[in-house]
Amino acid sequence: MTSASVAAFTDTRDVAHFINGQRTASSGGRSQAVYNPATGAVARQVQLASVQDVQQAVAAAKAAFPAWADAAPLRRARITNQFLALLNQERDTLAAMITAEHGKVFTDAQGEVARGIDIVEFACAAPQLLKGQFTEQVSNGMDNWTLRQPLGVVAGITPFNFPCMVPMWMFPLAIVSGNCFVLKPSERDPSCSLYIADLLKKAGLPDGVFNVVQGDKLAVDALLNHPDVKALSFVGSTPIAQYIYETGAHNGKRVQALGGAKNHMVVMPDADLDQVVDALIGAAYGSAGERCMAISVALLVGDVGDKIMPLLAQRTRALKVKNGMELDAEMGPIVTREALQRIEGYIASGVEQGAKLVVDGRGHQVAGHENGFFTGGTLFDHVQSDMRIYQEEIFGPVLSCVRVPDFGKAVDLINAHEYGNGVACFTRDGHVAREFARRIQVGMVGINVPIPVPMAWHGFGGWKRSLFGDMHAYGEEGVRFYTKQKSIMQRWPESTPKGAEFAMPTPK
Ligand code: NAD
Repeated sequence: MTSASVAAFTDTRDVAHFINGQRTASSGGRSQAVYNPATGAVARQVQLASVQDVQQAVAAAKAAFPAWADAAPLRRARITNQFLALLNQERDTLAAMITAEHGKVFTDAQGEVARGIDIVEFACAAPQLLKGQFTEQVSNGMDNWTLRQPLGVVAGITPFNFPCMVPMWMFPLAIVSGNCFVLKPSERDPSCSLYIADLLKKAGLPDGVFNVVQGDKLAVDALLNHPDVKALSFVGSTPIAQYIYETGAHNGKRVQALGGAKNHMVVMPDADLDQVVDALIGAAYGSAGERCMAISVALLVGDVGDKIMPLLAQRTRALKVKNGMELDAEMGPIVTREALQRIEGYIASGVEQGAKLVVDGRGHQVAGHENGFFTGGTLFDHVQSDMRIYQEEIFGPVLSCVRVPDFGKAVDLINAHEYGNGVACFTRDGHVAREFARRIQVGMVGINVPIPVPMAWHGFGGWKRSLFGDMHAYGEEGVRFYTKQKSIMQRWPESTPKGAEFAMPTPK
């Protein structure tokens, strides 16, 4: 694949909603600019839903639900299979849309689409995933079984940083389980969602089963307050995740709300430093650090700091920061100017609080893209745990290195942090690795793996303030989240009646 063979996404039409199988214009007249972060130019407008738009989408989903819930799981799986085939044909189109609106480099956008496709493949096993459990003869002539049934209308609210993959953590399992879905994507990169809706329709999905409402807080609140929305899946920042969890629960909904992160990598003195440098550079600066699994803190144990800092500094300075559609780009722009300013503000605070600024990415210019939202990679050394750049999620290409005397101190720091999304430990010592995996208070652990995003069938979720609710995204937890269990006990009595029974049935 070369950049020359990939058409950049340049559609200038408004991005609107997808309701009941149709692209639908907004009724409220509100809209917001969508930027190309590489040029800084407004590329198109996204229409922002009114409460009526949301109500229309939920009504369409509700109307579609009885027939869809009644469809055989195998039929739902076959439509998902058709969708999978179309997705595979269109993966580069989707990747170009992601790069155009998010800014991440095209090869990384292709990776995003591929990891979304993993979940769609998993969802194709719906008949197996939805199988119940059966116990024959729990008492004389009586059997007991459990089955899982869909909830009804469920909604997904997704962040800007994975506009294709994160919706695919949700809707494939939701709809294959028999629910109807309303997606509220990020208003910063909304185009993928409509393209996905078109592909689902082409795959044969009945109208109303999958709907998209573009929008902001107004749309989210309309979903949170709608009595017909039975469950909400959210992925985004921690304050909003907490708000969604509390409000959704207050309104009687099932909620899974995945939040922010501050992922650490522990580097033990016996680790292979070349591998560590490659891992840290990719995990800290890939996607400009705008990943919830990005490594933003390196805990350098013992003498690792003195050995590794010169190597990290050299590689950080050499990062190829450019338009993500150029295939040799290693890092693209930041999603918006506001996000860029927030990130550069954090760098200033790190300097003020006394961290050593080894590489300063601020003010990075890309020739021909002078108005793009670019910053270079930033590297701090001697960061302390009471500094804001250590405590808060920066969500940008800033790596904070903390020197620690030993493994125990590294574990204590991680376990004391408010976030617990991902973590990694690089070592050659199997005992250290095993202890790390057991003792660490984090949901997703990598041993010599910097970004341990679980595969489709394992499920994704952090601990502490990185996840509100008790179910992780996708995997078997995803199926459980989107279904409710029903237990059935059945007896077919013999033809001679025995009279009423008033005691609990017990095996004889
Ligand atoms: P965000 O919280 O600003 O927005 C997420 C969604 O919430 C968007 O759809 C947005 O429209 C909506 N929203 C924003 N403000 C709202 C409000 N006041 N009320 C109701 N809804 C609101 O997050 P973002 O900037 O789009 O994404 C980056 C964040 O997402 C980071 O914190 C990152 O760590 C997190 N994230 C977490 C995971 C995970 O799996 N834990 C994955 C990806 C991203």
